[in-house]
Amino acid sequence: MSASSLPPHHRPILALSDALISQIAAGEVVERPASVVRELVDNALDAGASQITLRLLAGGVRLITVEDDGLGMLPQDLPMALRRHATSKIASLDDLQSVATMGFRGEALAAINSIADCCIRSRASSQPHAFLLEGSTGEIRPVARAQGTTVEVKELFYSTPARRKFLKTDATELAHCIESVRRHALARPDVGFAIWHEGKLVEQWRRCDPALGAAATLDQRLADVLGNEFLDQSIAFDWHSARAIGERPAPPNPMRVWGRVGLPDAARARADLQFCYVNGRFVRDKVLSHAVRSAYEDVLHGQRQPVYALHLEMNPQRVDVNVHPTKIEVRFRDSREVHQAVRHAAEAALALPRAAQLTVGAPMQSDTPAVDDPALAQHPSQDLTGSARTLHYRDQQAIAFTPQHGHRVSDIGALWSDAPQTSPEQARASDTGTFDDAAPGPNGVDTPVPDHWPLGRALAQLHGIYILAENRQGLVLVDMHAAHERVVYERLKQQWDAQRAETAVVRHLNSQPLLIPATFAATPNEVATAHSHAQALTVLGLEISPFSPKTLAVRAVPAALAQGNAVELARSVLAELAQHDASHVIERAQHELLATMACHGAVRANRRLNLEEMNALLRQMEATARSDQCNHGRPTWRQLSVRELDALFLRGR
Ligand code: ADP
Ligand code: MG
Repeated sequence: MSASSLPPHHRPILALSDALISQIAAGEVVERPASVVRELVDNALDAGASQITLRLLAGGVRLITVEDDGLGMLPQDLPMALRRHATSKIASLDDLQSVATMGFRGEALAAINSIADCCIRSRASSQPHAFLLEGSTGEIRPVARAQGTTVEVKELFYSTPARRKFLKTDATELAHCIESVRRHALARPDVGFAIWHEGKLVEQWRRCDPALGAAATLDQRLADVLGNEFLDQSIAFDWHSARAIGERPAPPNPMRVWGRVGLPDAARARADLQFCYVNGRFVRDKVLSHAVRSAYEDVLHGQRQPVYALHLEMNPQRVDVNVHPTKIEVRFRDSREVHQAVRHAAEAALALPRAAQLTVGAPMQSDTPAVDDPALAQHPSQDLTGSARTLHYRDQQAIAFTPQHGHRVSDIGALWSDAPQTSPEQARASDTGTFDDAAPGPNGVDTPVPDHWPLGRALAQLHGIYILAENRQGLVLVDMHAAHERVVYERLKQQWDAQRAETAVVRHLNSQPLLIPATFAATPNEVATAHSHAQALTVLGLEISPFSPKTLAVRAVPAALAQGNAVELARSVLAELAQHDASHVIERAQHELLATMACHGAVRANRRLNLEEMNALLRQMEATARSDQCNHGRPTWRQLSVRELDALFLRGR
């Protein structure tokens, strides 16, 4: 008979022993050697260390020592360090609200001491020598050591063999330990780290000079820890919500979001290069990761995982870092405001077309940004790089939609009910005109490519698919359909959003009836969607009605897409509508619908473009947000530098 089937009976209620309490707490704090590493490195950082050295044996299971050159502990404080609920970091609940240190639960060392053999050597600057505290006996004796602290943890889980069985191979445990230090190291470029395993130096990240500034030291550390590719394939940004911009007053709860977001191209199958920090503390947080992922919504599709290192700085009173025993999760007072800030910051960084940077210079080095925003000029001491780039991008966006520069490959300006009507032929004719007037010279093959044409001058079209262009760096290859699709999509979104902002009412897309309705055999789902979303369809300029119980008829399509395949368009729009229950996330669905339309509106493969049209597309790409990726997240252009071409031909230079 099993115990659980016995009828319940009274047993005395007893207080747990201190040792048992600590062991239970250890279960929450210490899962594996890496958890110990995290706690000890936390403490070393809190003690103001500038160099932290780890020595491990057997993946940390047999031995972990963490050495620092921080403040050290006074001999009378040493025994306290191992006591449960003893901490030097908070003394009152008020402190708890605004704590700025890494951890303050005051239970890590006690918990670790209860499941391993610990000793601490520490010397405060005021002391003539160091003291050693034996964790098992509480005995203290003088030893030699420079200022700082060494914590030694031997035979983890020796007293709880059941837990020891859960550990993986030494190599795996070592990898977790390194990952744990890596997370700290990315947050603290001003601290040097070294990791030794079985007497061999396995990682070393040198201390970066803080005088270089936050962005430069972070870059240096990212390059050291994650490799130069991470830097090459990511965009630096620095976003402040605190600044009043133009008419808008500064928000009441200032936030700063900064760091680097990876290019969509650099996304990976695993989410292993995603680092989020809140006030310098590494966290895994759904609000943050969702916010960043949604910033990629428009440029990264499918299951690919973006890479990023992102810092959020905010009023400590608006985030509770003490909700989780391992302090890896946080709770925000207002998670919506955090989500918005992070999404916004990352989105702005990703929107800037890379082409624009080819002439701006290396992404991070724009030290004196040409900013004429008085609100920004008031903060000369702060790092303005990100905001400046965002502004720069806004200028570009403005240019893209002014009529003088509106040379369009296929005009969809007449998409909206109120916009003046132009036939596609007229539009094309006037485009060419505009283009010739605006820039007669740079088209000539003999003149140098102008500086403000980062994507260069079109040379030819290849197989009806690619545009070949020549720029300062070498050869540019453009996927014509993919690029144009993005240009059309961004313009549709802009117009759509602008209209929604201006008039609370959503205006309808300019619709054109078909002379002969296009009918198609529809699934029951399609029929139902057409019926239940009739209104949404009207807004989008589509009229789809039942022709027979199993047949739908497309009677009108958006005027700008009149040339396309009406049935294909109707089907894809219905599919999107079915997925995005219109009441549900309307704006998103609308953007996706616009993307569907953009795909139909974009130039098809095999359409012959003349040089002027190709150049016009290149100019539009330079000025269009997110133009480095098509609407499906694939790249729209590639650069082959002269150096790469030389290498192809084994041409020494
Ligand atoms: P907490 O970090 O939450 O305060 P711990 O159990 O991790 O709890 O540490 C207890 C106390 O021991 C700390 O508050 C700190 O005063 C002291 N301490 C621990 N590690 C160090 C260190 N490396 N250098 C200086 N003091 C330390
Ligand atoms: Mg601690």
